[in-house]
Amino acid sequence: MNEAATIQAGLQAAIRQLRRDGMPDYTDTGRVIAAAMLQLHDSEVERLLGYFLDRDCRLIEVEELSVGGLHGLVYDKYLPARRAALHGACHAVFAHCHPNGDPTPSPEDREAADTLDSQLAAVGCMVLRHMVIASNGVADIRTGHIVRLEDLVDHDPTETTPGPRCPHCGGALTS
Ligand SMILES: [Zn+2]
Repeated sequence: MNEAATIQAGLQAAIRQLRRDGMPDYTDTGRVIAAAMLQLHDSEVERLLGYFLDRDCRLIEVEELSVGGLHGLVYDKYLPARRAALHGACHAVFAHCHPNGDPTPSPEDREAADTLDSQLAAVGCMVLRHMVIASNGVADIRTGHIVRLEDLVDHDPTETTPGPRCPHCGGALTS
């Protein structure tokens, strides 16, 4: 690598570092859910998002890995692992939406989550969570646990402002 290329690489690394420092810490489950809700709650088709995180669970990149129809997703099953490796991600969170409003994970969802777990493990990336986002709530695919939106608002420890809340992300509404 010549000097110019080294400087370029350094600059890019610095920009990347800055960007990551400005990003939320995704060890907080509530934040991951809120971010995914914001991006997926009003989608009319199924979409799969991958959140690629560094060693400290800070966000490196969010990528849309697949866009599907009303009932299902088709995607290159090796793509998430390739993207994780490209980003140097140590952790990942996957979220897809159910446009029908019901977040209950399907058998296919659980199967896909298992596949993603083993494929990402092969590139040194641990999947923290697989989520289904729907207008009625958020489901954790591994545990089958479903959190309704109303409950999500109460569980957010960072929110102390009284008053109206956004029905989608639970954030305080100010006018
Ligand atoms: Zn699903």
